[in-house]
Formats: sequence, structure tokens, C-alpha cells
Amino acid sequence: MGKGWSSDLEKVKARVSNGAMKIEIDLKDVWDWAYCPLRVWWRKTGLAPDVISKQGKRTGEQLIEESIRSATRVYYELAGKSKDVPFGKCLGLVWKGWLEAWRLDDETVSDLVNYHQTRRSILSRFEDGEITNREGERYKKPTWTRYWRRMAESSGLAVLRQNIDRHQEAVGLGRLELPEEEYYRAPKGLADAFADSMDYANKMRLPPPDVVLGVNERLEVELPSVRLFSRADIVRSKGVSRKRGRPPKEPTGENLLHRLEYEIFLFDEEAPPIYGLLRDLRVIALGQSFPINLKLEEGDQLVESIRIRHMPSGKDQEINPRLGDGADILEALSRAVITGIRAGNYVPRMVCGWRACGDCQYRMLCFSETGVMDAFNPPLMAQIESAQRLTREMRKYLGGDGAQEKRIEIVRSIFEFMAKSPDLTPEGALWAMDNLEAETG
Ligand code: SF4
Repeated sequence: MGKGWSSDLEKVKARVSNGAMKIEIDLKDVWDWAYCPLRVWWRKTGLAPDVISKQGKRTGEQLIEESIRSATRVYYELAGKSKDVPFGKCLGLVWKGWLEAWRLDDETVSDLVNYHQTRRSILSRFEDGEITNREGERYKKPTWTRYWRRMAESSGLAVLRQNIDRHQEAVGLGRLELPEEEYYRAPKGLADAFADSMDYANKMRLPPPDVVLGVNERLEVELPSVRLFSRADIVRSKGVSRKRGRPPKEPTGENLLHRLEYEIFLFDEEAPPIYGLLRDLRVIALGQSFPINLKLEEGDQLVESIRIRHMPSGKDQEINPRLGDGADILEALSRAVITGIRAGNYVPRMVCGWRACGDCQYRMLCFSETGVMDAFNPPLMAQIESAQRLTREMRKYLGGDGAQEKRIEIVRSIFEFMAKSPDLTPEGALWAMDNLEAETG
């Protein structure tokens, strides 16, 4: 056993003793994994570096979310300079910057504006109840109906959409060739991303700038063995109180309590019911989170409320969390996802068919050409990567001079490595040993 491994071990021990050995993961990965592990795979492009350049790296949904979040930042930045600019205008500035950067011609820019206006006027007929299903109820997905198809064709909307979406690759979006009958159910492209964001902006009601402490703030939850990161779209002050108990002789900042509200923007098509939100992983995590970079005066912080703003409807709901609620669920789920990522357990939802993927924004990437499973086989690639990593580690142990180490340290080293590698099963370790023995013997 070589000196290198021994000093590695000391570093590990040092990290354990100062408590910094916690595993770190983004809530987005945990959330996406629960829906379909392949969503996480697409973001971890180290497994397939050429995927991104091959298929483009954005989806229509990402454009919508980025545009609304950038416009929110612009809105509060301008408000900070005493400029009262409406949110819709801030969104216009964001899109203007993008369209210029993508060098799209004036005709495409005017097509985008026409597309939004024409689509809005057709959608309004569904939203106002002028067009309903046989039972007289509003359609949940108007764009999937034959009425929509008929009106899109007669109004020129379909042609506008095709003209705009032929620039998809130029702006970094994936492209999906679909048969005509599936075209209206295709993932959102550039045209719909622009039109959706404009619709959302018209319903946006933001909190006044004087109560907003931060925008797109990074948050952290400290769990027993995991550090979980997320973001709040807006952090708002709900006031500062004095903590309960006997007041100190001298007033200090330490007995102050900053009451906070986190607001998150939800882009799901349908507004979730309140009982669904109470079990929503994002809401559970927010209730336990604290801002990492926000500079507040001295004192403690309390998450008093969470506001969920549903962007398509413009409606918002307030939830009052209790600290500690669901912390055990967050810890268990985070660890399960980390184990899955390390082991390469990428089981794609698409194997249950196109419909099983629902509105997933990665459809444009997963289903293009022969499909992601034929082109890359993500589970296999991840497992090969995992096996290569294991073999590299084992070589490190075997490369040194074992006679110089005490046996107990060798055993401890192996357990340390296994503790850091939940994907390493006893069978996997034995299999790797067999291979190495065959190679070196
Ligand atoms: S399109 Fe389907 S398989 Fe691909 S990431 Fe989304 S849910 Fe998973």
C-alpha cells in the first residue's frame, strides 16, 4: 500500500472530523430524478460530452423560465435605480437582447410578435368558454384539439410557427421531426417559448421592491449527512420581530428575528392543489432552507411563508411551513438519488412510450433521430464510467507497497472507499478484484 493512499486516507479523516464530509446535491437533481433519471443525465454531460453540441443545449421550457427570471432581475435592478419600468417591458428587453445575440432577421422578429398575438386571440376563445368539449367543459390542452388545428391552419398560425421554429438549432434548441398528426403535440419550440413568456408577463404581479431582499437567491438545507441546495425566485421580508423571552439589558441584533417569505415560480401547465403542494419536494425543502449569500442584519431568520406563483394562471398560494417537517424525507431521497447517479441507474421513462413522458421538456432531445437509447444508451454509458472509476481506485490500492502498511489500515482503507461509493456493492468489488487479478496475474 503506497504512501499516496495513506495520505489520501488522512485527508478523508480530516474531512470527517471537521464535519465537511457531507454529500452535496442540488434539489433540481433530486426533483428531476424522481420524474425521470434521464433528465439528470442530460445535464451531466460529462458522460457524453458530444450530446450537447449534437442536439443543442436548450429546451423551449428553459427559454421561458430563463426569460421570466432574467426579466424579474432586470425589474428589481431598475427599481433599485428608482426606475419604474413595467414587468412586460423588462421581459421585452430580455428577448430583444437574445434576438440580437442570435442574429435573427427582422422578418423572424415580426413573425414572433404576430405569432404571439394570433395565438392569444385563438387561445382566448378556449379560455373564455366559447369553444368547449361535448360536455361543455373547457379543454385542458386546447392546442391538442382538432379545433385548434383547424384554426391554426386557417389563421396562418401554423405557417408562422414553422417559419420561426426553423431557427431552432441556430438558437441552441433541439429539433424533433414528427409526423404531421403529432406536430401539434410537439415540445415547445422558439415560437411557443416567446408567446408563453409574453402571456405569463401579462399576468405577473410582483411584490413591491421595498420588501424584496433578494432575487434568484441560493438556499441551503443542512441535513444530517447531506447538504441540499436550491433557489428562491424572490426572498421577501415579512418584518423583523424581537425573539420571545426576557429582553437583554442592552438591545442587540442577536435577539432579532427576520421573518422571511420565499417565492418560487411554478411553470407546470396546471396549478397544483394545495394538498399536493404540501407534499411537494420543492416546498418541503424551502421550508427548511436558509439563504447562503443574503446579507441581513444580525439576528436569526425564520421562514414564515412560502409563496407559489403559478405562471400560466398568474395565481399564487401561500403556505406556512414548520421547521423540521419532512427533513427525514429530504435526507432519504437525496441519498437515494446520489446512490442512483453514482451507480448509473438511469432508467428512462421513455421506455414506457412517448405518452409516458408527458410534457417533459427533454422530449426534443430524447426522441430526436433514432432516440437517445439507440444513440447513447445512457445507463450502459454510466455503468461503464462507474466500472472504470472503480478499477482506477483499486489500482491505486494495489499499486503501492502493501508490506509497509498495517493490515488494519488496509481494511479501514477499503471500508472508507466503500463508504464514499454507495454504488460499490460487495459483488461489484469482487468482480473488480477478479478482473484485476486476471490482468496482473
Ligand atoms: S423525454 Fe422521457 S425519457 Fe427523456 S428525460 Fe423526459 S421523461 Fe425522461
